[in-house]
Amino acid sequence: MSRTADVVIIGGGIQGASIAYHLTQRGHRHVVIVEKETLASGCSGRTTFDEVVGGHSGWVQCGLVYMVTEKDREALHHNVALGQRHGVPTGLVDAEEARRRVPGLNTEGAVAFAFEENAGYGDGYGSTVAFARRAREGGATILQNTPATGIETDHGHVAGVITPTERIATRTVVNAAGPWADRVGRMVGLELPLKLELIEEAVIRVQAPDTYPIDTPSVYDFVNGLSFRPEGTGHTVVAEGSSYFKGALDADGYPTQPSDRYIEDVSMRLARAMPRLADGTPRGGWAGLLEGTPDFHPVLGTAPGLEGMILCYGFSGHGFKEAPVTGRLIAELILDGRPSLDITPLSYERFAAGRLLRSLYKDDPIMA
Ligand SMILES: Cc1cc2nc3c(=O)[nH]c(=O)nc-3n(C[C@H](O)[C@H](O)[C@H](O)COP(=O)(O)OP(=O)(O)OC[C@H]3O[C@@H](n4cnc5c(N)ncnc54)[C@H](O)[C@@H]3O)c2cc1C
Repeated sequence: MSRTADVVIIGGGIQGASIAYHLTQRGHRHVVIVEKETLASGCSGRTTFDEVVGGHSGWVQCGLVYMVTEKDREALHHNVALGQRHGVPTGLVDAEEARRRVPGLNTEGAVAFAFEENAGYGDGYGSTVAFARRAREGGATILQNTPATGIETDHGHVAGVITPTERIATRTVVNAAGPWADRVGRMVGLELPLKLELIEEAVIRVQAPDTYPIDTPSVYDFVNGLSFRPEGTGHTVVAEGSSYFKGALDADGYPTQPSDRYIEDVSMRLARAMPRLADGTPRGGWAGLLEGTPDFHPVLGTAPGLEGMILCYGFSGHGFKEAPVTGRLIAELILDGRPSLDITPLSYERFAAGRLLRSLYKDDPIMA
């Protein structure tokens, strides 16, 4: 069997689904997503806690409080000013305001604070499926349980994608394969830098009345090295920046639960940040892959030496929030030849050229 498509997207995670959505929004119906398992079965399905607590979390606009120590004061001021220049409702606040926003927050040790009003959190699985559903309504074809096993080329141009059951003739292929992107790269002899780490998140359950409301802002706490937010009745989700898992990771089999050591450590840190949660009971959590590049930023753009091959991978733990704009930019790259924002700083070539991106925050490589 064979078919033809204008664009074949390899990977039905949130990036692939967002790209398909944006292509179809612009009237391009001949788009095929090939997904080796099911939609959001990779990283995109691991951003949610639904399987732990139950229910569908969806988008909650709760705002976000930052608190930093002296070494990150300048970075916070810089980023707040940058956001304001682009119309983001964000601003510096004082410790009292931070404590008013997050009742019970221990601000000791922090020297600068910011509050971002429109921030919130959402469900990676639900968002992926929503993008994909709209793409399908716009004419896209989504082939689940369909791995891409090869990519055909012809005189330096992409010519087709091979699956176990068919050949899809196409002149444009997007590699949106998340932690498997390097394997897809090798199908056309391209070595893509990609390092897998484990991201662990813990859920701490705190019995009422010590709980705090669901619309309490999330906190990025640089004093204790944590981010946390309330989730459901009487639960707090807490994550810590560094990777506790030190073994070799394989995208086809990795721990899906946080280690006891991780849970114990983040519980202690959370108790320092929010003393009112100190009596909380850890309820487990979940873990997933951080698909990291050498500078913890994604690779977006064309692949060198092969016309029609587009790269969209390596979101390094922040791909959920970037997926809406990434999908739009990749769709523009395909349809207009250049996106409306300059994506050259995210090119594949930056690694060889030594133009790695740097975070302004001293100890957090993934915070811009
Ligand atoms: C625990 C955890 C917490 C996170 N928290 C946040 C957060 O707070 N904020 C944030 O912005 N981001 C967060 N992230 C990161 C975010 O989830 C990822 O960056 C994002 O989901 C990556 O999406 P993707 O589409 O690139 O990859 P994936 O979702 O992994 O999708 C890739 C897809 O490609 C498919 N595939 C691979 N190879 C093939 C092939 N040969 N043929 C067909 N299909 C193939 C896979 O099956 C997979 O479904 C978190 C991630 C984890 C694990």
